[in-house]
Amino acid sequence: MISFQEAKTIINKNIFQLRPEKVDLVQAGGRVLAQDIMASFPSPIFDNSAMDGFAVRFEDTQGASVKNPVTLKMVSISSAGTPSNMFLNPGECIQCMTGAQIPEGANSIVMVEDSSGFSDSDTVQIMIETSKGKHIRKMGEEIQNGESLIENGRTLSPSEIGAIATFGYGEIVVSKKPKVAIFGTGDELIEPGEDLGEGQIYNSNLYVFKELVDKVGGEVLMQDVIKDDKNSLRDFLSRALETCDIIISSGGVSMGRYDYVRDVFIELGVIEHFWKVAQKPGKPLFFGSGDSALIFGLPGNPVSSYIGFIEWVYPVIETMMGKQETKKVKAILKAPFPREKMKHRFLFGEVWIEDGQLVCQPSKKVGSHMLSSSLQANCILGAMEADSPLQPGESIEINLLPWKAIK
Ligand code: AMP
Ligand code: MG
Repeated sequence: MISFQEAKTIINKNIFQLRPEKVDLVQAGGRVLAQDIMASFPSPIFDNSAMDGFAVRFEDTQGASVKNPVTLKMVSISSAGTPSNMFLNPGECIQCMTGAQIPEGANSIVMVEDSSGFSDSDTVQIMIETSKGKHIRKMGEEIQNGESLIENGRTLSPSEIGAIATFGYGEIVVSKKPKVAIFGTGDELIEPGEDLGEGQIYNSNLYVFKELVDKVGGEVLMQDVIKDDKNSLRDFLSRALETCDIIISSGGVSMGRYDYVRDVFIELGVIEHFWKVAQKPGKPLFFGSGDSALIFGLPGNPVSSYIGFIEWVYPVIETMMGKQETKKVKAILKAPFPREKMKHRFLFGEVWIEDGQLVCQPSKKVGSHMLSSSLQANCILGAMEADSPLQPGESIEINLLPWKAIK
């Protein structure tokens, strides 16, 4: 058995990064960027109007008011997408809509509300004194040409997609999605929707795994529940080793008489890096590599398998995709946390904000078969081995479940 930290070090030595690929922008949401994005032009790209109104020379509006308007000659229209090519001379104005290019010679915009309004007349009354540059969005005021916008390794959320579209990139380079095989083992397992027989339970772990793979940005290529027999395992695993980047199993890696998963991995030439980590839950954790795949064997108990996926597999998939590391967070305990003498301890928990501080408590259900302990949880609490429990008021490391909000 190795320590939590030793296991992390071994995994980090064996991770490989997936190759990049080019995708259309419409398919890029949620993917991990594998290039830097620079501004390919200044933004705004030309001086344009922030308001519907009139492009004027501010000098012409001096002294104008509602009681004492200035009359200007209306010579043209500049609308968004259809600029006016007229030069604005003293005493003239041009109708200029929001987003429309500012005509040459103009240096200010008067809002339509401060005029006699849009009409077909060839004069307009301006009822306000304006100043130089008023309501003009200046070229480059937001972003300079060549400025770095988004760094390699960022996950593309609506904000990034918006910025990339703003600068006209129709295709971008992202990391390939990891191809994942997930399987569960156990003669007792049947699928939700079927009737339970004696001694049977429903397979829940693979449904959790499938959701987790989706959330982290992988693609499940193979998924199956396999009976506790070596031939079926061999068949599934040899196909998975040929086609997938990562293989994740639940169950069958403990000390039970029918726990064949590790044996079959090794028979098929998988190199075992470790089996068993000093942690609770989930001690019999298997980690190995094939020619082009990483293999995680997680124990079958639903909490061990869920927490094991989050703590061990999730960050590995993120690193394979070149994702920037997420920082660890700490919170103050509101209830004791039961540490273990010889093992790293994990529990589902809740974190919330109280008096401006992050506070947390572990789930009251602590059994590794009690999957309902994840229902209220928005994080996993983790503490290194120690002789005594952590007490309320002490701080503890938390791993936020990225799809849950902090209450
Ligand atoms: P194992 O690691 O195979 O010894 O399984 C440990 C416990 O987890 C047993 O109680 C199994 O019935 C249960 N278990 C194994 N696989 C699953 C699964 N896919 N869904 C729900 N429970 C499971
Ligand atoms: Mg089993």
